[in-house]
Order: sequence, then C-alpha cells, then structure tokens
Amino acid sequence: MNVSLGSVCYILEIMPRFLLIIFGLVAALILLTGCRWGPFAAATPTQPAPTNHSTPSALPTFTVEPAAVSTPSALPAPESTPAVLPYSTLFEVAWEDRSLFAADLISSEQWALAKLPGATVYHIEVEIDESLTELHGRQQFLYTNRTSTSLDHLYLRLFPQLFGGTAAASDILVNGQPAMPTLSLRGSALSIPLSPPLRPGEQVVVSLTFAITIPTTPEGNYGAFATIDNIMALAHFYPMVSVYNEAGWNIEIAPPAGDVVFAEASFYLVRITAPADLVLITSGITREQQTTGSQQTVTVTAGPARDFYLAGSPDFITISGISGETIVNSYTLPQYEERGRAALDYTLYALELFGRLFGPYPYTELDLASTPNQALGIEYPGVFVNTLNLYNSQERFELYMESTTVHETAHQWFYNIVGNDQLDEPWLDEAMAQYATYLYFLDRYGADGAQAYYDSFTFRWSRGAGNADIPIGLPVGDYTLAEYSAIVYGRGPLFLITLQEEMGVDTFATFLPQYYRTYQWGVATSTGFQFLAEQHCTCDLTTLFEAWVYP
Ligand SMILES: [Zn+2]
Repeated sequence: MNVSLGSVCYILEIMPRFLLIIFGLVAALILLTGCRWGPFAAATPTQPAPTNHSTPSALPTFTVEPAAVSTPSALPAPESTPAVLPYSTLFEVAWEDRSLFAADLISSEQWALAKLPGATVYHIEVEIDESLTELHGRQQFLYTNRTSTSLDHLYLRLFPQLFGGTAAASDILVNGQPAMPTLSLRGSALSIPLSPPLRPGEQVVVSLTFAITIPTTPEGNYGAFATIDNIMALAHFYPMVSVYNEAGWNIEIAPPAGDVVFAEASFYLVRITAPADLVLITSGITREQQTTGSQQTVTVTAGPARDFYLAGSPDFITISGISGETIVNSYTLPQYEERGRAALDYTLYALELFGRLFGPYPYTELDLASTPNQALGIEYPGVFVNTLNLYNSQERFELYMESTTVHETAHQWFYNIVGNDQLDEPWLDEAMAQYATYLYFLDRYGADGAQAYYDSFTFRWSRGAGNADIPIGLPVGDYTLAEYSAIVYGRGPLFLITLQEEMGVDTFATFLPQYYRTYQWGVATSTGFQFLAEQHCTCDLTTLFEAWVYP
C-alpha cells in the first residue's frame, strides 16, 4: 500500500494526542509493511542494511579529573607498567592504564575500570581528507588471549570492504616483528599469523597502517558507512578484532537483514585529524581539541565499549541536555532544529526511565545524530543515528521519530552494555529494545500508549509471518527478510511480555536489573537468559522457552 503524504497530515492535525498515538502507530505500521525495504524501513532494523618498545621519554601532560560536561578534559600521566608490557608508541601511554577512561564513566560506574581483565585496548590515529571520502590511519592494539585455546592467528574485520568502500591494512607488526597476513571473505577478514602461538592468558601488541575509501552513495551500506550530502557516517571503519568463542573466529559475512557486528567490550584511545569545520560525533568523550589552520586534531577516549563510531558534518548544529551526570547531544541540520529538540526530549526521558528500570547508563555522554541512513535508526556505543527521513518529513512521522529514538536509546543497554551475538541471537538486543520501548510508551502515555505499541508487535507478527510459531532465538540468516522483522521485532517483544506474565510483573521487574548487572560488559546468551530468569523466579521456564525461543 502507498499513502500520499497530504491527506495523512490533515487527519493528524485534528486528532487528540493519545488517539494520535494509536492512529500514528497503526498508520506507521501500514506504511512500514508498504515500504519494508523503502527509506522508512520497519522500525529500526539496523542495517549492515556498512612500534618499537622504547620506554616513553616525555609523557603527555595529561591529568585525570571528572569530565566537566562538554569541556574536553586532559588525560592522566601513565603509571609504571609491568616491564613485560610495552607502552603504545602511538600515544606513549601504558596499555593497562584504565584511569584514562575514568572521565567516560559516571561516578557510580567507575568500578568497570577494574574489571574486564584482558579486554582489547585500541590506540588509533586517523586522518580524514577534505572531501570526507578518504581516511588514513595507524592502529596499535593490545590483544589478550582470554580463551582456553592457543591461537596461531587472529582475525581482524575490514568492514568497509563489505559496504561499497575499500579497506587495506599494511605494515603489520606483531610485537614489533613483521607478519604476513592473508585475506578472505571479499577482503573483509584479515588473518594475522601468531608465531609462536599465543597461549591462554598471553598478550600481543599488533600495529598496522590502514587506508579506507568511503562511498558516496547508500548502495550496499544503507548509508551507515558513506558520505552523502556533506554528512559522513563511518560505522565500523577501523580494523576490528574478531571474537573467538566456542564457534571459533566469528568472521562470517552478515546476512542483509540484521546487524553486522559481534564484538567484545574494549577500550579506545583515538586521535582524529579532520577538516576544522567538521562537527565530529564519536563514541566516548572528547579529551582534547586543537585547531591549526584548516585542520583540527581531537583526542577521544571511549571504554568500555563494543565498537568505536565516528561521524560528522560541517552543517550540524548541536542541541544539548543533561540527565544526571550525562550530557546528551542531539546533532542535526539547522532546518531541522525543532525535530532535533524533539529527539533530544525522547532520549532524555528514555535515559532516565531505563536507568530506573534496568540500571544506570554508565557514560558521561550520549550522542544522537540525523544521517542519510536507510534504516530508521542504528545503534553504536554511546551514539545512535536516526534517518534524516524522520527529520525532514512532516508531522506524520513524529511517532516514528519517537519510537525509533527510544528503541535506539534502549540499545545502549541491550547491544552495547549487555552484549550478544547479534548475528546468531539477535532477539537478545532487538526484542529487548522493542520491549523497553513498550515500557517507555506505558510510562509516558499510559495504557493506551502502550497498547498502541503492543499492537505494532501483533501487527508485525501477523503481517510478516502470519502468526507462525517461528522461534525468536534463531540466527538472522535463518529468517527471510519479512520473517526477521515479524519474529524478532514482533514476536520477540511479545515473548518478553508473556514471560513477564509467567514470572509475575514484580518478579520480572527485579529480574531485568539483575540480568543487566550479570551481563554488563559481557556477552549474554539465550540459555544464560533462561537460567538467570529461572534462578530469579525459582520456577521452570523450559516449556515457555521451547515454545517461543528455541528451534
Ligand atoms: Zn534495533
């Protein structure tokens, strides 16, 4: 079905708010099924849619202090590091110095810095050219073998290769020694030999240079990795360490429907040189900013975080608000200021609510931006993007903007903080984000608002899968495109509401913060979710999980 814009807007203007909610969401759903793969694709299915070891002489003059909101604050001098661990030569700071990231976290979440032993530490330096279509970088990272297996190689993902751009890595050194990599999977999987093999608990420092070309059309990347209309979006641009688990190295190319990344929480120290007029948006927080002539150099820290996102535009304006110790920045184009303010309002409300329901948002910053992406919204650590289509269209998409913005905010909890294998168990972040959005409408607009959003779930399930009892716990690749939306985004949250009834509303409400704390900065699984829920309710949920989740 295709609906003309004019008639819809007229109707919307005369409707009272909650009826508007009901009408808007049903209308949005009709639209959604109409243009599933059009520019307003179903609410928020995120698309792919993409040195030497000298002891440091002069150390950078950084000191740690609480991140003054929006003012860059300096980094600490490195403490003495165990002799065996070299300093990074890119930044001359100690690899294991977690105090660098204290300013990224609110005071009650500082404990995370003492956790995550062996988490990968990335030091990255990039230069972005004037046209925003080329990026050159140097990267060093400390990798610890946290598996129980000796590893004779490790894999890096070069995602731009899959997004219609190119990524080439060279000058690869392993603990300062040259290494000959091999490429596979359309050049998106780079295997680096480790000789001798890295035994469990052992660490290695890998350094390399990389060159990226950025496409200027959304073909093959849904605008998630492209520079379009002076807006640069660089999802997963740097060589990313792959996850090794019981399935081995997770390097498969993601199916078109779902998210492309499965990553572990890591720490990022990044220096970006870019045109001076570029308004930069990144995961983490800006620690230092210098402008020299037509260029700016910005130093950013982010961590713990499952990825490092980078975007920007010389045309962006910034609208900011505060929630507790967190600054929230909404970036958009001047002509969309009002929509940027609305998106900020939804984000602030959701941030406060989810903090109460699940546990605190740990970062001192959250950014959202409007980009020409062809999903509705896409989540990254500490940042999410909404499609510009939600900003540049009339009133009729206001509810889309609200549900999308809240869904993406919820992904900070369920994707980034509580991780999952987004390719093999997408429901753990997508169904949870849908359920959290339902709780938002319930809290903000009452039962009617929640009912309308609930109806969107049943509508999806019936529309996309005819209410078939297809398990929600399948890998993305096991669903057709229509089933993926219907089952993971429709049947998925319905399962969580059914589980809530089964466990009891109060028991479920206390289970969620426990689930959050148990898997914070870790990787949750369907069986782990069930086990924890059963422990929490001291009940057997096998029948329910077999009926809804497991194949
Ligand atoms: Zn999502």
